Amino acid sequence: EVVVNRIAAGEIIQRPANALKELLENSLDAKSSQIQVQVKAGGLKLLQIQDNGTGIRKDDLGIVCERFTTSKLCKFEDLTQIATFGFRGEALASISHVAHMQIQTKTKQEPCGYKASYADGKLQGAPKPCAGNQGTIITIEDLFYSMPQRRQALKSPAEEFQKLSDVVSKYAVHNPHVGFTLKKQGEAQPALKTPVNSSRKENIRIIYGSAISKELLELTYKDDTFKFQMDALLTQVNYSAKKGVMLLFINQRLVESPALKSSLDGIYSTYLPRGQHPFIYMSLQLPPQNLDVNVHPTKHEVHFLYQDEIIERIKEQVEAQLLGSNA
Ligand code: ADP
Ligand code: MG
Repeated sequence: EVVVNRIAAGEIIQRPANALKELLENSLDAKSSQIQVQVKAGGLKLLQIQDNGTGIRKDDLGIVCERFTTSKLCKFEDLTQIATFGFRGEALASISHVAHMQIQTKTKQEPCGYKASYADGKLQGAPKPCAGNQGTIITIEDLFYSMPQRRQALKSPAEEFQKLSDVVSKYAVHNPHVGFTLKKQGEAQPALKTPVNSSRKENIRIIYGSAISKELLELTYKDDTFKFQMDALLTQVNYSAKKGVMLLFINQRLVESPALKSSLDGIYSTYLPRGQHPFIYMSLQLPPQNLDVNVHPTKHEVHFLYQDEIIERIKEQVEAQLLGSNA
């Protein structure tokens, strides 16, 4: 049974960046305003995330790593919605099957914090009381120690670090009210840092500034027919960059939509001088029941109802904006 669970977990957590995405979402769900990430060897030796969110109650420490248990059930009316928002209760369980995991956490209500270790989905011993501020520190060590082949298939620590940095960057742009830090263990200066209560434009400048060549264009649009809202910031990356940058969030989750991406890439290649690539931040709000939840969890690839129509409308808006700015 352990082996089967491990294989299933390895499908969900394929590399450090997958784990980090899940952990960042948990910290954001817990209403943190500061999130600090520390890594060693591209997250393969150590991936630690510290937040100042709600914390986890002592009584819940026994179940957070069981598959399909989530404390977020009460927030939603039905199970489809939960799955749609990414609350599957699988992330911590999966991580605990493929790495050594420790949680240190303190809630506002409890007088002290607790520290707990996990292996293969189970709490190891009783949580131990400890000092600490409100919030949660999740420490993941030796990712894929139990799956040597998976570990070998991964890219170099430097490339894994690049992917981690990419994930933090995107969440930082989308959540400018939260201060993010990404640090390599042992280095004095963070590799990435954004202030608390920043703005999207400011965070884009901090993170992608040197790659961007033009002003950011702001675009917001609400569509009553297909029931979606779009907020976007558009510009282009400078000549030296070989490809564009796309940050796509749907209902607050970082996702990929190949259909939308290729449509937007198409607009840029039609209207921009050759060799110019897009920089696109886009956040879409859709009715959760219109999102397809049956796509494989690792892909972060989404499909949604009225996809063609919605993409067409987005395209019209972006075209008009780009044309207007070039006129
Ligand atoms: P899900 O997010 O789908 O509920 P996870 O496996 O990602 O499932 O997390 C399990 C549970 O652990 C969450 O429902 C939440 O109660 C708790 N949790 C995880 N990380 C944090 C955190 N950083 N702060 C507070 N609670 C957390
Ligand atoms: Mg989660």
